[in-house]
Amino acid sequence: MESGSDVQAIREQVFAELGLYQEVSGLFDGGWGAGAEGRRLPVHSPIDGARLADIAVASGAEFDRLIEQAWASFREWSAIPAPKRGEVIRAIGDRLRRNVDNLGLLIALEVGKTPVEGRGEVQEMIDICDFAVGLSRQLYGKTIASERPNHRLYEQWHPLGVVGVITAFNFPGAVWSWNAFIAAVIGNVVVWKPSPEAALTAVAVTNVVNEVLDEHGLPPIFLLAVDEAGEIGQRMSRERRLPLISFTGSVPTGKEVAAAVGGRLGRTVLELGGNNAAIVTPDADPEIALRGVAFGALATAGQRCTTTRRLILHESLFDSFLPSLVDAFGAARVGNPLEPDVLVGPLINRAAVESYSAAIGGAQAAGGTVLAGNAVKTLAGLEGGNYVAPTIIDGVAPDADVVHTETFAPILYVLKYRSLDEAFAIHNCVPQGLSSAIFSNNLREVEAFLSVIGGDCGLANVNTGTAGAEIGGAFGGEKETGGGRESGSDAWKSYARRQTVAINFGPDLPLSQGLTFDVG
Ligand code: NAD
Repeated sequence: MESGSDVQAIREQVFAELGLYQEVSGLFDGGWGAGAEGRRLPVHSPIDGARLADIAVASGAEFDRLIEQAWASFREWSAIPAPKRGEVIRAIGDRLRRNVDNLGLLIALEVGKTPVEGRGEVQEMIDICDFAVGLSRQLYGKTIASERPNHRLYEQWHPLGVVGVITAFNFPGAVWSWNAFIAAVIGNVVVWKPSPEAALTAVAVTNVVNEVLDEHGLPPIFLLAVDEAGEIGQRMSRERRLPLISFTGSVPTGKEVAAAVGGRLGRTVLELGGNNAAIVTPDADPEIALRGVAFGALATAGQRCTTTRRLILHESLFDSFLPSLVDAFGAARVGNPLEPDVLVGPLINRAAVESYSAAIGGAQAAGGTVLAGNAVKTLAGLEGGNYVAPTIIDGVAPDADVVHTETFAPILYVLKYRSLDEAFAIHNCVPQGLSSAIFSNNLREVEAFLSVIGGDCGLANVNTGTAGAEIGGAFGGEKETGGGRESGSDAWKSYARRQTVAINFGPDLPLSQGLTFDVG
């Protein structure tokens, strides 16, 4: 093993730079103070199983006090003009820039991404800071022509108050930042409940951003509560003092959150599982399609919500494109992601490895043939890691249960089509609706895919894969993916309350719709 790929050596370097210790607190409410009940969350690296740290988790009473602090911070923060709030977010972006390598490496250690991907995730956090700074001067409301004389009618946008953000393990920093920085420039305070599988990154990020707030003499507006298995998440869903819950995670958990928040008529932004497909037509550029499908299926070891899980391939390409893809899967090196030429790191935990094996077994039982992969790997020196071989399966029916289920692992189902209508039918037959792609240089095929009868997802890609969104667009999906939108475009409106204002500046009281109501 090269020294630059040694988990313990990198852990020591990153911990020293980011001010982390073997024991850290998982509750930040202006100070780091969790642990009254003495419960600890052990953090293991999926690379080799090494214990990275222990996090003291928040008790119910501590969480209760945190919500009180959050509302106290809100009163102060929301009174600051939005462009001034933007300047604070700019300073946070600059601080993240200084920490991009260390935070990227911490993400690699904690969730097993390659350092390049970890760094890319922090870059995404920086990019959303820049976006939020601009947004802080563009929180526009419309002025509407009033039908009543001497009246002004306009809309203004207020913050909601304290916003709850519950995140998944696979983007331990970026997803929070999409929510947090946008919500903050509007004037909200954010309470973050990260995944227990990625809570150390959350502790480090919270530390970095709150240093900046502290230096500016500002109250804590980015609060954190780590739990062991979703208990704080459940409390947040029921908590009336959190008017919005932005939830990122699996469809089953999302349904629970939606029911609990909906039961109290709170708001949700739901960013749930995907089951993304790429259609490759005979008019595709084969080189671009190959790279796009391989990156979509293999990046982050198939643990992206936007991972390509289904390849909808024209029947004429089974003897040309498919063998090249099988070769590419075989050539992608699986191993310690800290090593420079490794493309596929570990899965997050043993349960994920079991899901991988169960899905392949299920696909074989449904008539599938394994063309590549299907191996759980034990790597020398990394025996505690969770490695699997990227897998391609052909011959399973498009409507088989296993194809309709998101398995968070590098498994790609190949589905044959003859006509474009058939390709769209296969594409749209799954319950999820996050990201989609077509590889084709045929304008008619591309425009058909982008038309109403084409792909039914929140994200549509042409000649680029399903994975890898930019922060400038609104991100999210339809159907069981939950309908939420985060990040760019006008997704900020989810974190704001619209108020329509009518002002009468005249000497009379004219009523709308020409009503008269004389009381005198
Ligand atoms: P998960 O559903 O297991 O957990 C997500 C979060 O919910 C975690 O913080 C977890 O602790 C918490 N939680 C668990 N039970 C809860 C409950 N009853 N109430 C409230 N919170 C609870 O998901 P995961 O395994 O961490 O992440 C993978 C999933 O997330 C995949 O399905 C993936 O597609 C999805 N995801 C979606 C997007 C998107 O933008 N659409 C982005 C990233 C990940």
